[in-house]
Amino acid sequence: MKKIQNYINGTYQDSTSGAWLDNYNPSTGKVYSKIAKSTSEDVVKAYDAAKTAFPAWSTTTIEDRSKILLKIAELIETNLDHLAEAEAKDNGKPLSLAKAVDIPRASANFRFFGNAITQFASEAHESVGLNTMNFTLRSPIGVVGCISPWNLPLYLFTWKVAPAIAAGNCVVAKPSEVTPMTAYLLGEILTKAGLPKGVLNIVHGTGPEAGQAIVAHPDIKAISFTGGTKTGEHIARTAAPMFKKLSLELGGKNPNLIFADCDYDKMLAVTVKSSFANQGQICLCGSRIYVEESIAEQFKKDFVKKVSELHIGSPFEAATNIGALVSKEHLEKVENYIEIAKSEDGKILYGGERVSVKGFENGYYLQPTVIEVEHNNCRIQQEEVFGPVVTIMTFKTESEALQLANGVRYGLSATVWTNNLNRTMRLSKQLETGIVWVNTWLNRDLRTPFGGMKDSGVGREGGFEALRFFTEPKNVCISY
Ligand code: NDP
Repeated sequence: MKKIQNYINGTYQDSTSGAWLDNYNPSTGKVYSKIAKSTSEDVVKAYDAAKTAFPAWSTTTIEDRSKILLKIAELIETNLDHLAEAEAKDNGKPLSLAKAVDIPRASANFRFFGNAITQFASEAHESVGLNTMNFTLRSPIGVVGCISPWNLPLYLFTWKVAPAIAAGNCVVAKPSEVTPMTAYLLGEILTKAGLPKGVLNIVHGTGPEAGQAIVAHPDIKAISFTGGTKTGEHIARTAAPMFKKLSLELGGKNPNLIFADCDYDKMLAVTVKSSFANQGQICLCGSRIYVEESIAEQFKKDFVKKVSELHIGSPFEAATNIGALVSKEHLEKVENYIEIAKSEDGKILYGGERVSVKGFENGYYLQPTVIEVEHNNCRIQQEEVFGPVVTIMTFKTESEALQLANGVRYGLSATVWTNNLNRTMRLSKQLETGIVWVNTWLNRDLRTPFGGMKDSGVGREGGFEALRFFTEPKNVCISY
C-alpha cells in the first residue's frame, strides 16, 4: 500500500515513531494508503532542517527565488492530471473540479508569489525639517509554520507555503491528515524544481500531535493557519505566550442576500454553485440564503428544481456535480445538523438523505439539502455545517436583510445580488465580513486581501498582505 512519508531536508522519510495512520478514499470508504504519524520529534527534525537552510535561502537573490517558484508552478501544471486524480481520490471532490480549480490554483499560487516578490517594496518616510530619513527594512522571519485544512488541500497548502518561501523564510508545514496526498506529491516537484533542501519541510500526522508540535515549537516564530474556529482558538492560546505572529483563516457562515432587482437567471445559476460547490465544503460557500419576500416563492421553486438536477456520483464520473463528503465522521456531523434543523422546525425543501452510488456503495454521499427556516437564532443558522446544506429565509427590507446577515459570530464573506448601485455601496460598507461579492461569487484576484472578521479570523492573506505577514518590518532612521 502507498506510504505517505514526510518530506524533510529534501528527502522522503518515515516518521521517527515508525507509526502509520490509515488514509481513506471517501468515494469508496476504503483505506488506500498509509500516512506517516509524526510526533514532535519529526517536527524538531523538520525545524532543524529549516533552520540550517535559512541563512542561504534568505540571502538568495529575489530573481533566483522567483525562478524556483515559477519552476514549481510549471511542474504543477505539467503534472495537472496526475495531481487532480490524486486530489479527487483523496478528498472525494469531482475530478472535473480538481482539474479546473484546485490544481490550476495551486500552480497559480506559486506563479503569483514568484512574480509578486519581484515587485514587493517597502516604504520610505523623510522627516522634512528634522533632517532624518526613515526606511522600512522587511526581512524574512526565519522558520515559520503553515497548517492547512482538507477541503481544498493543495490549493490552500500552496496558498501559504508559496508566499512564505517567496519572502525568504524556511517552512515546516502540515497538511490535514484527512487529505495529505497532494502535499506529499509536491515533495517530488520541489526537488525537481531545485528548491534547496530544508527550505520547505512537510510533516504529516494528526493536528493535536504534529500540528500542535509546530505551534508549540518556541523557535517557529509565525504560524499561518487555515481551519476551524475552535482549532484557531486553541492555536491562538498556545501561541500567545510566545508572542508568535499569527494569521488565522477560520470558519464561515456566509450570507447570500438576494434582492428582487437582481439579474435573476445569473443569480440562480451562481447560487446553486455557491451553495454546493465542493459538496458545500468551502469556507466561502453561501450557506445562509436570504431572499426578498416578493420573489421568495418563485426562487424556492426554481432553486429546488435546479438543485434536484445536480448529479451525485463518483468523483471520476464526468457528469458528477457532487462527489463524496470528505470522511465518514464529517458525513455524520452534517447529517446531525440536518436533524438539528428538523428539530428546530426547519422545513426540508429538498434532500437530506444519504445516496447510494452504484459501484461505490460505501462512499460518503449525501444529497444537496435545502432547508427553509423562520428564525435566525437557531443552531442551523448560527453554526458552521461545512457540507451540502443551505438554508433559506425571507426578508422584507434591506435593513432587515443586513441585520440577519450580520447576526452571527462569523464574518468571512457575503454575497449580494442587486442591480441597485446605492444599495451595493451601503451594504458593502455595513456587512461585517472580510469579503463582499456583488453579483458574483468566489471571484478571486490573488492581489486582493483575503480573510475574515469576527470569529472568522485574524489577519489577511493574499497579494502583498501575505508577503507582509511573512516578513518582519524594521524602521531604520538615519539622521543627516
Ligand atoms: P481543523 O481546524 O480541524 O483542521 C485544520 C488543520 O489544523 C488540519 O491540518 C488539522 O490537522 C490541524 N489541526 C487540528 N488540531 C490542531 C492543533 N491542536 N494544533 C495545530 N493544528 C491542528 O479544520 P478542518 O480541516 O476540519 O477544515 C474545515 C474548517 O476550515 C472549516 O471550519 C472551514 O470553514 C475552515 N476553512 C477556512 C478557510 C478560510 O480561508 N477562512 C478556508 C477553508 C477552510 P488534522 O486534520 O490532521 O487533524
